[in-house]
Amino acid sequence: MNKIVDLRSDTTTRPTAGMRAAMMSAPLGDDVFGDDPSVNALQEKIADMLGFEAALFMPTGTQSNLCGILAHCQRGDEYLVGHNAHTYLWEAGGAAVLGSVQPQPIAHQPDGTLALKDIEAAIKIDDPHFARSRLLTLENTLGGKRMPINYLQQATDVARTHGLATHLDGARLFNAAVAQAEAQKTNPREEARRIAQCFDSVSVCFSKGLGAPVGSALCGSKELIYRARRLRKMAGGGMRQAGVLASAASYALDHHIDRLADDHALMRELYAQLKDIPGLAIEAPQTNILFIDLQDEARERAQALVDHLKSRGVMVIGLYRLRMVTHLDVDAEGIRQAVAAIREFFSA
Ligand SMILES: *Cc1c(COP(=O)(O)O)cnc(C)c1O
Repeated sequence: MNKIVDLRSDTTTRPTAGMRAAMMSAPLGDDVFGDDPSVNALQEKIADMLGFEAALFMPTGTQSNLCGILAHCQRGDEYLVGHNAHTYLWEAGGAAVLGSVQPQPIAHQPDGTLALKDIEAAIKIDDPHFARSRLLTLENTLGGKRMPINYLQQATDVARTHGLATHLDGARLFNAAVAQAEAQKTNPREEARRIAQCFDSVSVCFSKGLGAPVGSALCGSKELIYRARRLRKMAGGGMRQAGVLASAASYALDHHIDRLADDHALMRELYAQLKDIPGLAIEAPQTNILFIDLQDEARERAQALVDHLKSRGVMVIGLYRLRMVTHLDVDAEGIRQAVAAIREFFSA
């Protein structure tokens, strides 16, 4: 009997026994009144960790980004954003719909960055014809790609030079930090802080590789977080005894950052086992996400491949471009099972 190997997303993790114990014993209060000790502790912990004055616990990363963008921008402002970025493509147009804040999309370079000259060219002069360019939003990691720290510094410098604020969608900030720490032989927490400190605000997800069931945090200045608190209420994100969730996020920060390196190692192993299969075009993974483009004959058999994987207990997202993600609930055995299923399909 095959186990289920769920490679669809790092959002599919379930809380570990230790995390559940932390949730069960968390002191609780009404967070809309600011009374939940576990929420307050989490907010202090993440703000401290990333070097900000304040933080706000959010039900989702989507709401965290939305409140971040709306806390920076007024109606009629615009934010510059990558055309594949979550805050542009995957958040139902929230900033435009709910905030009347216009996105100005910019095409990504192959490495996921936005070219500095493209950022500069997209910033409008003060002219009645134009929306007011107000904010640059970047994402790290983006589709599993880590943005170089020098690039983050340069891009945010360009924004600041033109009077724009900067926001990082750091849903997978800690994956970026762990990969960066490995490359530079430093500490992931130090790298997370270095990345975050390039920006005026950062949104980070606890519900992805960190393994919490729910939640994100928006970090920024006291003033920004004060504004975001009202926006969160408006968006319906004022939760009550949210400490039951915040305690899971705190537990994740204490126990699940360094182990992201294991997810990255398993992803490298998966890549090494698949990269020579004809018909599969795969870019070397930098963190925990792999995209496999099916070409030629493999492309014609795409649906058969996905069905085959499913029959072998291996769950992936996509059809012609498959996405696989490693996380807390995938182990070496699971990767062997996935590799065996894919090899079996292509040797048949
Ligand atoms: C998952 C994710 C978010 C937020 O997603 P939610 O499902 O709303 O928590 C934001 N940005 C990126 C890059 C993400 O991967």
